[in-house]
Amino acid sequence: MTAALRPPPPPPCPTHHPDADLLSRHAAGTLPDGPALVVATHLDFCPACRRQVRAWEALGGALLNNQRPVALADDALERTLAKLDGVRLAGAPPDAPALDPDPVLPPTLRRQRLGPWRFVAPGIRGRAVRVDPAEGYKVMLFRVAAGMTIPKHGHRGQEYTCVIDGAFSDTFGRFGTGDMAAVDASVEHQPLAAPDGDCLCLIAVRGRLRIHSLLGRLVQPLVGL
Ligand SMILES: [Zn+2]
Repeated sequence: MTAALRPPPPPPCPTHHPDADLLSRHAAGTLPDGPALVVATHLDFCPACRRQVRAWEALGGALLNNQRPVALADDALERTLAKLDGVRLAGAPPDAPALDPDPVLPPTLRRQRLGPWRFVAPGIRGRAVRVDPAEGYKVMLFRVAAGMTIPKHGHRGQEYTCVIDGAFSDTFGRFGTGDMAAVDASVEHQPLAAPDGDCLCLIAVRGRLRIHSLLGRLVQPLVGL
């Protein structure tokens, strides 16, 4: 007699989500590339937030439909298409980047142009995610070894994080796969990777970090954060 094969259980839904402001701006396409990528990565993991984004999109469409019609200029289509030339949508770069073979990456990140993995510090590696630098955000994937602490740091701007695999904890709680964190310049924290496996996370940062440890300041030029 053979045991019945059962499909693996679905991954647990995230418990830390983007707030309504981030989701509505994501739906409207008005977020800068960095946070847009982090929110899109969270959406890969989170059916609840995908439903909210669809609702915001439907609301935006309904508002547009309720506008009184106005006559368009004869060259409106040509001018709109001209504006779209060279525009790159977060999550869909036009120049066919190679897919990353790492099976753990969610779909949004498999579509991005990624730099090579580089040494950051003992137990920490990072690779750049290429986004439009004009919008002021740097985006990195970090892999932190189980039980390692990221140097204590503060911020000069917003920092958005989505956990891809594993977990970390800081003063705001435990963040597991798919969870998203957003902190501003008032926050200092020292994330600690969970002891039972590496933590892979996507981070978008605006402005350089304020790092307190000597080691952290030494490696800061390596990662450019
Ligand atoms: Zn969510």
